[in-house]
Amino acid sequence: MDYKIDRKIIFGISACMFGAKVRYNGKGWDMLGELKREKNSFIWAPICPEVMSGLCVPRNPISLSGGNGSDFWKGESKIKDRMGINRSQMVKDGCEEALSILQRSNVDAYIFMEGSPTCGVYRTSLKGKRLGNPPGVFGARLIDDGYFLIPAQDLASPIKWWDWRRRLTAFVWLKNLEISSNKDIYEMWHILKFLCQELDETFARDIGNKFASLKDELTSEEIENIRIEILNLLRKPTNVASISHWLWKNYSFLKKHCDVDIPEVQNEGELRSGTHMALELLKVEIQSRKNHLLFGSSPIIYNF
Ligand code: SF4
Repeated sequence: MDYKIDRKIIFGISACMFGAKVRYNGKGWDMLGELKREKNSFIWAPICPEVMSGLCVPRNPISLSGGNGSDFWKGESKIKDRMGINRSQMVKDGCEEALSILQRSNVDAYIFMEGSPTCGVYRTSLKGKRLGNPPGVFGARLIDDGYFLIPAQDLASPIKWWDWRRRLTAFVWLKNLEISSNKDIYEMWHILKFLCQELDETFARDIGNKFASLKDELTSEEIENIRIEILNLLRKPTNVASISHWLWKNYSFLKKHCDVDIPEVQNEGELRSGTHMALELLKVEIQSRKNHLLFGSSPIIYNF
């Protein structure tokens, strides 16, 4: 089984994070500048659900009242602007249109502006001002529709971006993988199990035991349920301590068994910046690829 992606990954992105000055106050930031040349490795679909709602630039800021973005879709919360005008129907239409654009563009993942009552996922507060409870209206739909979601501010952190990128490539690979038999499942698990262990050891142990005790061929429904469980796990971020621990574990293995020597890799307990750790991880990644070895923490090859 090939463990590489053979096409460019397509991102949807909040347009205000793509450099478009579409925020209510006419501002926007070019967060892709943080990726430098790497931004050319991906295809981009910038959208602004609020502008697509018919709300112009500049506009009165909007906020959620009576619940969060999930409640909004059940008709239990509203979107109002600063003048108290109900903008719920407009925002609903804009979000639906934005979602259909993401589908037509075939996007794999979405980079969102955190803090927005529309695009926000974990936060809907800006500068300490609450704009309703998270997730935002559009964010809620992105979660439900199973998109891989990345907060735009994490593009500025080399270690967080490394974490997102390695999980994203695994996510896209698994989402598109043809799986029709138990043999395919075992091969898929051989490639992803170390990353899954790193993200949730209990989950990985349980699912590993389940695969080990399989007697009958899995039905296509069972295969799809397993796929969804693993995809959902891959969407969850980890923490720097865990990344450091597994970097050391993987590196020790490669050094001992595969003769891989990378002087830049520091001991697990040594203090260093996130930027330095991201560099160590990239070095291990490159050496593993060169030697045709599977790097468990970042198993899928993405070369564009
Ligand atoms: S956060 Fe989303 S809705 Fe708000 S300006 Fe940015 S793209 Fe538009």
